[in-house]
Amino acid sequence: MSRRSEPRGSSSGNAQGDEPSGGRAASKSGEGRGLLSLVATPIGNLGDITLRALETLRAADAIACEDTRVTAKLLARHGIERPLIAYHEHNARQVEPQLIRRLEEGAQIALVSDAGTPLLSDPGEGLVRAAIASGIGVTALPGPSAALAALSLSGLSAERFLFAGFPPPRSGERRRFLAELAAVPATLILYEAPHRLAESLADMAAVFGQRPAAIARELTKLHEEVRRGSLASLAAEIGGAAAPRGEIVVVVAPPQQPAAGEEAGGPDLDAVLRDALRRLSLRDAVAEASAITGLPRRRVYARALQLQEEKG
Ligand code: SAM
Repeated sequence: MSRRSEPRGSSSGNAQGDEPSGGRAASKSGEGRGLLSLVATPIGNLGDITLRALETLRAADAIACEDTRVTAKLLARHGIERPLIAYHEHNARQVEPQLIRRLEEGAQIALVSDAGTPLLSDPGEGLVRAAIASGIGVTALPGPSAALAALSLSGLSAERFLFAGFPPPRSGERRRFLAELAAVPATLILYEAPHRLAESLADMAAVFGQRPAAIARELTKLHEEVRRGSLASLAAEIGGAAAPRGEIVVVVAPPQQPAAGEEAGGPDLDAVLRDALRRLSLRDAVAEASAITGLPRRRVYARALQLQEEKG
């Protein structure tokens, strides 16, 4: 396991004791080695930024960011002027070696995304991997993330959860993606674009069955809203109105645990199978229905054959 270097030398102090803090930092990974700081930024309300994040941004030799205009606005609000380097999914491969070179020369580089925590459905993975591989210190400055804000507001269990990012935009692929998640015994957190929310919820209702869910929209902003209900009722509500505006997180409760000796009370096997058989080969339909219902593949296969025979 690689050990990250611990930035020191902050002026802000730390009530919790001796955790790393922001500011210009020396690195344990070697004299003159730089430090990559992953800095969380607001997801709407510009006030949601930590003191340590501001200190780190102020002290950085450069700030790598998705959209320089978005980050410039945040920095201007806090009176910070630092060089910005555009780093996004389209140029990541070209920019990463340049950033690593600067870090190796001793630069302090902060990575931010347009909103929230870098790497969560945002760029940064390649840079962090390359920094780790090069023995460069990496530290994280935690802060806002839409996924966790939505989870904590959802009213659903936060004991165990799975962040699944954005579902695929096309329905067939999306249903397969959801089917893989159907039996996961955890609360699911998904990001979704507003214009796809209605069809995505309809697919979730079809694949996950009757589960409580929450739609968190425009978190930390003026029109923050959380709707809670069953997947089917939320799908009907959203499907029956104009597409909502703004940014959205969908949180879905885990599958219900069957009581001892009881069969899983989730989605109806015949309904799930009929739907899957309309779209997929027998083999894929059985795999999908088995994942959704949690029932053994052999049993699902037998029922699929019966349904096909009945249909003639
Ligand atoms: N890295 C970010 C984070 O930590 O939350 C997520 C970036 S991802 C490209 C953007 C998606 O996050 C949006 O499409 C939406 O699903 C979700 N999101 C971001 N800000 C949000 C907000 N204020 N309210 C609800 N969802 C939000």
